[in-house]
Amino acid sequence: MDPDYRNFNSGTTAPLKGTDEVVLFCPICSDGCSPGGDHHICCLPCGHMYGLSCIKKWLERSSKCPYCLTKSRVKDIRLLYTTQVVAIDGALQKKVKSLEAKCEKQGFELFKKEAEWKKKEDDFCKRNSQLKFTFMLSNLIVMCVLIFT
Ligand SMILES: [Zn+2]
Ligand SMILES: [Zn+2]
Repeated sequence: MDPDYRNFNSGTTAPLKGTDEVVLFCPICSDGCSPGGDHHICCLPCGHMYGLSCIKKWLERSSKCPYCLTKSRVKDIRLLYTTQVVAIDGALQKKVKSLEAKCEKQGFELFKKEAEWKKKEDDFCKRNSQLKFTFMLSNLIVMCVLIFT
């Protein structure tokens, strides 16, 4: 680990300014920011977020935020520890995956139930028309009886 990295850790974390929007993907490499390691999600004093390794490399060449061009230095970088960012964390990703699977399953159950209901409806319609037919038939019999007596 390079010595700079420890310095970043000792700094206070900056609150997410402005919007509730959490950038999960580093705009420099368009890769997901990890909740730790080289590509840890971090932000500049202007509030724009990047992967740590990318913005460090960027600030070595240019001393401006790539997004809004606010003057920034490597030591201005603040690591972010936000709960939303751990969405790309393995365990959570698994949880999301299992939830997705659950949703899919539930969707399938719903689909099955819908099909069942449709079948029940069909049965009901059939029975209904049968009933109507029997009713007509009995009416006819009554009429015949009335005519022929
Ligand atoms: Zn990056
Ligand atoms: Zn900026």
